[in-house]
Amino acid sequence: DEFCRALPKVELHAHLNGSISESTMKTLTDMKGIKYDNKPQLMFEKDRNGTLEDAFRMFKMIHEVTDNTDAVYKITFDVIHDFAKDNVKYLELRTTPRSEPSSSMTKTTYVETVLKAINDCASEDLDIIVRLILAIDRRHTLDVALETVQMAVKYREKSNGVIVGIDLSGDPKKGTATDFIPAFKEAQKHGLKLALHLAEIPAPNETLDVLKQVKPDRIGHGTCLQQDIGGNKHIEQFVIDKKIPLEICMTSNITTMTVEGFDNHHFKYWYDIGHPCTICTDDKGVFTTSISEEYKIAARTFELSREELWELSYNSINYIFSNNDTKTLLQSKWKDLKTKIV
Ligand code: 5GP
Repeated sequence: DEFCRALPKVELHAHLNGSISESTMKTLTDMKGIKYDNKPQLMFEKDRNGTLEDAFRMFKMIHEVTDNTDAVYKITFDVIHDFAKDNVKYLELRTTPRSEPSSSMTKTTYVETVLKAINDCASEDLDIIVRLILAIDRRHTLDVALETVQMAVKYREKSNGVIVGIDLSGDPKKGTATDFIPAFKEAQKHGLKLALHLAEIPAPNETLDVLKQVKPDRIGHGTCLQQDIGGNKHIEQFVIDKKIPLEICMTSNITTMTVEGFDNHHFKYWYDIGHPCTICTDDKGVFTTSISEEYKIAARTFELSREELWELSYNSINYIFSNNDTKTLLQSKWKDLKTKIV
């Protein structure tokens, strides 16, 4: 427990709205005059499972609470503080630019608000570096996706490089990842990195097409890449050959039952063959978890030693979307802290 908390950590897969804590949620619902007496509608109770559909229903309800720039500022500010408190030293948050006619929030003011909160946190003494990934929702059109890429390019300049990449997420049962390939290529043309949710559920055709045509820099979940669980041998071999890091979100997968039980989690397969993996929360609010908790679950389930947990955390620095100077800075920070905690 103590060790996983004290361990310096990198968090590379955290959706802003899904990361909202219960206390932030309470403040926001109080402000809106919504009676907050039914937590299970917004967040899974600990150790209670559901489905992906339940999770997507929750995101929709959370969005109804974060439908204005004040709320978006507050969640961003609070989520960064939550991760900093849990000893995350480097955080890549991801979020889908959203407009809300009810409050005159536009995608532009949304992104500017998130960047302002990140910037304000940077001027505090929090000891955390925060970067932003803009997300494409697979339920939307290619035009919307291209607009998101344009915003990422524009605001990367304006924010001095806080924006580092593009994500593909949203309900994996809707839309087709292949349709967004032109947007991914446009992002790559501008030097943005790609962290794409792939094979969250069996989807071998779109997975192979996207892998081969754009070669993403990281894969979100990658639950069904392996040939014996919904992928195929070409997919598996491609991911291995290209060493594409996997963002592993265990509690999320177990809670939405895309994986049956921690023991069966695909992390074990990839970890055992020495493939790059990074442990992440996905949605620490919705799934009632924390990054320390995710390390603890990995340690307990797969009998990892302190040294192995340390390596997992340290190696994650290699998969961040920031430049080599940032990597070097983090590596030396990790080495300084190592003597104190391992
Ligand atoms: P937001 O982008 O609004 O800050 O965060 C919530 C959104 O992230 C959801 O509406 C959904 O599009 C995406 N998201 C969060 N968790 C997951 C997940 O486990 N799988 C997928 N595919 N998308 C997710």
